Amino acid sequence: MVKQVWNDPAVYCVEVDLPQNPLHNLNVYVIRTPERDLMIDTGFCRPECREALWSGIRELGLNLSRTALFLTHLHSDHTGLVWDFVDRDIPVYMGRVDLGYLSGPHQMDHLALLEEMFGMEGFPPEYLAVQSTENQGRIYAPKPGFPAVPLDHGDKIPMSGLDVTALHTPGHTPGHMVLYLPKEQLLFSGDHILFGITPNISVWHQVPHSLKDYFDSLGMIRTLPIRATFPAHRSAEGDAHQRVKELLVHHAQRLAEIYQAAAAYPGSTAYQIAGMIKWSARGRAWEEFPSHQRWFAMAETLAHLYYLAEKDKVRRIQRSGRILYHVKAPL
Ligand SMILES: [Zn+2]
Repeated sequence: MVKQVWNDPAVYCVEVDLPQNPLHNLNVYVIRTPERDLMIDTGFCRPECREALWSGIRELGLNLSRTALFLTHLHSDHTGLVWDFVDRDIPVYMGRVDLGYLSGPHQMDHLALLEEMFGMEGFPPEYLAVQSTENQGRIYAPKPGFPAVPLDHGDKIPMSGLDVTALHTPGHTPGHMVLYLPKEQLLFSGDHILFGITPNISVWHQVPHSLKDYFDSLGMIRTLPIRATFPAHRSAEGDAHQRVKELLVHHAQRLAEIYQAAAAYPGSTAYQIAGMIKWSARGRAWEEFPSHQRWFAMAETLAHLYYLAEKDKVRRIQRSGRILYHVKAPL
């Protein structure tokens, strides 16, 4: 399904369903100018997404010889079908940092290192073992090593007179980028700012404090004049500045909740603390969480615990191969 979401410049949204995924859908935006069209993100590498995306491309009548693709970040629901474009010689643009995770020399290391870290933080091995078969992000990932033009903060994507600036907004992923059109004051926010749901903030190797990065990136968005925001998932109705405030409150509450869990049960692992948090999982109890949801909850809990540790509010103590948490100072 394609709908026009902005007039000047013409922006269209191709809705790509993500089957059996709590995100429901990906919004693939297409910015059209007389000389060049720019598509943003692709959907998972699975037939349902491919069909929806290409039917949208046909409906729009895109001329592929003058189309470019921009990928907001490395997650597979955004990059899965990138080879469809590479194989047709369509130029791909992506933030340098996330591109390094997918196409750099250590592309697979980060998952292995993360699994090792999760193990030490108490994540049960039986849930780790099934991630490769149950986590959609892994099943429907693109083949690594695709070529792309790496972008740094402030780089512009050539779009025949239209100023399309890529801004580095780390947090959701280390190299996440949004696109900003300063003259029109439009923001293509990827997964940095979502309405109705909150972007997952995880932990990463080589990134000491993703939650702090996320706060800083939200702060940067606050300084931009924005008339309309186009998020990558769910509906696009909402004010970015208002949403930034809500997201900051959400994480402050989650920090407090995690701190209180560590205070009430001293010596808990991060995994045990994750099980004490109120997640918005459509009423599901923690015991019913599938393995991949536990993975995301664990990642998010760790990002908050690391933040609290950095602020000297909690202490991480290693005991026989496990990291245990104690509160250290009042919140
Ligand atoms: Zn994402």
